[in-house]
Amino acid sequence: MRQRNKPWADDFLQENAHLVIPNPGDYKNKWQELFGNENPIHVEIGTGKGQFIVGMAKQFPDINFIGIELAKSVIVTAAQKVQESGQNNIRLIQENAENLNEIFMTDEVSTVYLNFSDPWPKNRHEKRRLTSRSFLERYENVLQQDGELIFKTDNRGLFEYSLVSFSEYEMLLREVSLDLHELHDPENIMTEYEEKFSAKGQPIYRCKAVFRGE
Ligand code: SAM
Repeated sequence: MRQRNKPWADDFLQENAHLVIPNPGDYKNKWQELFGNENPIHVEIGTGKGQFIVGMAKQFPDINFIGIELAKSVIVTAAQKVQESGQNNIRLIQENAENLNEIFMTDEVSTVYLNFSDPWPKNRHEKRRLTSRSFLERYENVLQQDGELIFKTDNRGLFEYSLVSFSEYEMLLREVSLDLHELHDPENIMTEYEEKFSAKGQPIYRCKAVFRGE
């Protein structure tokens, strides 16, 4: 994701602390209280500029969506989109997903979305891939029994790596699509990257997987 220096970002984030939550650890086990309802919590990791989370929040008003995005210059764009949408079922967090277990309690999350995660193709960067084992451990910890991990990418290498990683973790694969758009899934909301790559004719891969538990 291209990042530009945005000198106004800090002020914007301070003014919009109700949308981009500054101390997310304070809400561990209290996210539903923050939303003021008991609706399920869905978390997107690497939210980028926010097209997916805003589209999903409109489509599913009875779900609470939380987007985690590392880059400040990117999350401010997502926050502007959330603001414009007027949806009150979205919050954003500027954090590294490595800290997921400091933000959410065991079983607090119903679904985790990974959309077009950075591929980190070099072997020495494997641990940074959001589908590597140490990240799966974090997702398993926060996801409720039967909660889904839904992963989309255009990157064949990352998709193959991830399927192997899920299988080594003994996850159950509920769906593997090698051409998502061929399925014409009416519930599929496209991300910015998805629009860009599918416009170039590249297939989009999707996998839905669950942890087996004990
Ligand atoms: N999901 C968006 C889409 O599909 O258009 C953006 C995809 S972009 C390739 C990946 C995004 O993930 C970037 O905005 C990056 O800053 C974010 N990201 C990468 N590693 C992350 C991490 N460990 N925690 C949170 N966000 C991360």
